Formats: sequence, C-alpha cells, structure tokens
Amino acid sequence: MSERREIVTIDGPSGVGKSTISRRVAAALGYTYLDTGAMYRAVALFLQQSQIDLSDEQAVSSTLAALDLQLLPAVQEDGDVGVVVNGQDVSSAIRTSEMGMLASRVSAIPLVRKRLTEMQQAIGQAGKIVAEGRDTGTVVFPDACWKFFLEADPEERARRRMAQLRAAGQEVDAEELLAMIVKRDRDDQERTLAPLQKAEDAIVIDTTFIDIQEVCRKMLEFVQTKKLS
Ligand code: C5P
Repeated sequence: MSERREIVTIDGPSGVGKSTISRRVAAALGYTYLDTGAMYRAVALFLQQSQIDLSDEQAVSSTLAALDLQLLPAVQEDGDVGVVVNGQDVSSAIRTSEMGMLASRVSAIPLVRKRLTEMQQAIGQAGKIVAEGRDTGTVVFPDACWKFFLEADPEERARRRMAQLRAAGQEVDAEELLAMIVKRDRDDQERTLAPLQKAEDAIVIDTTFIDIQEVCRKMLEFVQTKKLS
C-alpha cells in the first residue's frame, strides 16, 4: 500500500454509537468529522422528493446531476451535522428511521455510490478527518492510518436508537425498530457493492458493554500511539 494518510475510519452497523464516538474523536484530534450516512440519507430524500422510479437508471442519473449537497458543521456541540440539499435545509428531515431504510435502498444503486464516494474522497483529500459509515475503511479510504469497526448486540443498538429518536421527539415501536435495524444491517451486509464489512486491518471494538467515553479513550490511545502498518 502507498503511504497511509492521516484519516480515521469508523464503520459498523446502525445504532452502534458511531456518530457520537466519531464526533468526539474528531473534536479531540482537531480533525473534521465526515458523516457519510448523512449523505446517503440526503440523497434518499432528494430522490424521494423527485418522485422518480429508483430502478430507472436514466432518471436516477439525471436527478443526481441536479443534486447540490452541502454538509455544514453541527449547530450544537455533540449534535448532528447540518445538511443542505439544493438550498433546502434537510438536517432534521433525514434523521427518521424511514429515511434510514430508504437510504439503505438507495445506497445499493451504483450511480449513487460512485457520486458519494467521489465526494467523500474529495472532502478527505487533505487528510485530518474522521469518517464514519459502512465502507469508509474498505472502499472510500483504504489507505487510512487508523481503522475501527464497531459492533454491539442488536437489542442494545435498538435501545440506543430508540433513545435517540425519542430525544428528537419521534415515537417508535420498540419491536418495529429492532426489526428495521436487523433488516437494514442485513441488506447493508448482503449488497454486492461496498457492503458493510470490517476492513481486514480494522480494529474491532464491541460497544455492547462499554460506554462511549471508554470507547473514545481506547480509540484515541490507539491513534496517538500507533498506526496501521
Ligand atoms: O449511518 P446511517 O444510519 O446514517 O446510514 C444510513 C444508511 O446509508 C445505511 O443503512 C447504509 O445503507 C447507507 N450507508 C452506506 N455507506 C456509508 C454510510 C451509509 O451505504 N458509508
């Protein structure tokens, strides 16, 4: 592999703590936080609003050509990044479980993956970023200096997601949420293009029984003392 770059990648299934952990690790290192999931959610919303047939490649292609996607720093400390699509602030609209499911469908479309992967690589061009998602250590930044893969039991992940949605004022049924999480992860793992999988050289951390502070501490210790070879 060519020279590794000053990039931290954090991949894993939904509800594993990736966003909070990535934001804190980025803040502690003074790096930019890149939420690739927010980009897939934003494209999902845009394609939905454009009312096109997702299996119509030509329609997806011309709709994507008209996409202007901007990521803004979070308004609140430890909050989600802001997302603006063609001038419309979609920061809250993309954070529903339905949009998570649609993002998963849309993320299997090759044209969407190509466009977003290129955007992500352009954002990471100068290094010093913490990227979180499903394929950041495998496809987007295979040459990252530090790669992590987070795991946790599905029940615990559903519990965390529930708390997040409640805090955002959304009510969801616990069983339905667990079923959605399990389906989304399976679809993400089974797709042929850039599936959710651990990079061969990623460090695996199971977050089921460790709190977020401890996970961040372990990661920062690793980043500050070691590099992947
Ligand atoms: O992380 P988040 O829940 O916001 O991601 C929403 C969906 O976007 C995921 O379920 C996945 O299908 C897709 N995604 C992806 N590749 C990424 C990030 C997200 O396919 N790097």
